Amino acid sequence: MMDPRARIPSVERLLDAAAREGLQDGFGHDRVADAIRLAVAECREALSTADTEGPDWLVGAEVDDPDPYLSRAAELLEEADRPSLRPVLNATGVVLHTNLGRAPLAAEARRAMATVTAGYANLEFDLEAGERGSRYTHCAGLVARLTGAEDALVVNNCAGALALALGALARGRDVAISRGEMVEIGGSFRMPEVAAQAGAGLREVGATNRTRPADYRAAVRAGGIGAILRVHRSNFRITGFTESAPLAELAELAREAGVPLVHDLGSGLMVDPGLVGLPAEPTPAESLARGADLVIFSGDKLLGGPQAGLIAGRADLVRRLRSSPLCRALRVDKAALAALEATLRLYASPEEALARIPALAMLATSVEALEARARTVADAVAPRVPGSLEVVTMEGRVGGGTFPGHAVPSAGLRWTHGPARVHRAAARLRASSTPVVGRVEDGALLLDLRTILPDQDPALVAALVAALIPRPGGEDRSAAG
Ligand SMILES: *Cc1c(COP(=O)(O)O)cnc(C)c1O
Repeated sequence: MMDPRARIPSVERLLDAAAREGLQDGFGHDRVADAIRLAVAECREALSTADTEGPDWLVGAEVDDPDPYLSRAAELLEEADRPSLRPVLNATGVVLHTNLGRAPLAAEARRAMATVTAGYANLEFDLEAGERGSRYTHCAGLVARLTGAEDALVVNNCAGALALALGALARGRDVAISRGEMVEIGGSFRMPEVAAQAGAGLREVGATNRTRPADYRAAVRAGGIGAILRVHRSNFRITGFTESAPLAELAELAREAGVPLVHDLGSGLMVDPGLVGLPAEPTPAESLARGADLVIFSGDKLLGGPQAGLIAGRADLVRRLRSSPLCRALRVDKAALAALEATLRLYASPEEALARIPALAMLATSVEALEARARTVADAVAPRVPGSLEVVTMEGRVGGGTFPGHAVPSAGLRWTHGPARVHRAAARLRASSTPVVGRVEDGALLLDLRTILPDQDPALVAALVAALIPRPGGEDRSAAG
């Protein structure tokens, strides 16, 4: 039998065919030639394995037909021109998915960001005095008002804010911390390393499961303590025989000893957790009211804004942080400041915040509402795709290292058609022009509607139809394997 590779069209012939279709007009001769050579190489490579009919993109066509090569070349050229960072549909049910960019921004925040970054802005310019100002004035008043703090500071992210606080308050001394709060936040951001980077030592007190006020008191009496640190156990839980020192008692102890109490809250939820179906945890305002001297929290977790680290509390401590050299290294960007200010303004009314801030609105959506949307999507998709597409209830997560072990009851779609096809469909969904990221569990594709914005439902329908319909000739051949 003739080697099928001998039938691959020549690059010259393919270039002529591409020119007739106008491919070179869009991408230029050299790039088209490179893409065609790549397509030819892919085909040659696939045909070298004895038992294959060629690459997926050739299935159903003849090896000497130029069309599939041109389509493949066009696809390669378009892929190369696609931005690296682009929007995706989050069908994972994880609301603050760190890998998918955490909190989606409110329309108000997006508008403010676009307006401020379109030209110049008074980022560090005092318009009244006509002279240099400080970028740190922009959100400080709002954060202070919303948390009941004397003053506030916004930096690049929460991990940075913590390093800044430890460095400014406890450099050359120790930070007292419970052994039950020696957390790793992720990305190798661990308390001991953070303190070491900040030039502070850690004085571990208590035991992993139980720490009492007396443990902190003993550490303070022994001397050399620059700050007491309470870290929210964001991403894990300790259950069973446990005890931790009440914040108010720690605050009293810190005041007597004359050392600041710093509370790293992580999530930054600023509404009553019950309103979004979450278990009780202190808001920044409550932590300050109970006596923390500084609270530290993220801008893009449950606050629902851009990436930022917020610090609020005693004016003298905030001033020390602001004048630390590390503050300059962690400075917040003007786009983030604009988005943060607009997001914070929505907190003037909790109802407004719940309705307008996507992360909160997603959490506040009822399972019934999600089921209704899932049914509409299923009705549009099911008649056009093979396999079984059902509307089911499922469990999502808050994510972003917050509320560990807390399942968010949710609803969405479940598609089954054999594990191999399900895996291939999941990959095709990720390769969509607007990629869709779902979950594969027990051989089924799960798409959680809670984290899809309602105006993205039509895009989800289009992506599902395109990804779940088998390619002509291709699917069953490879699905058999
Ligand atoms: C998430 C988290 C951080 C880090 O916040 P980033 O915004 O990711 O920098 C710090 N501390 C706690 C307790 C957290 O949960």
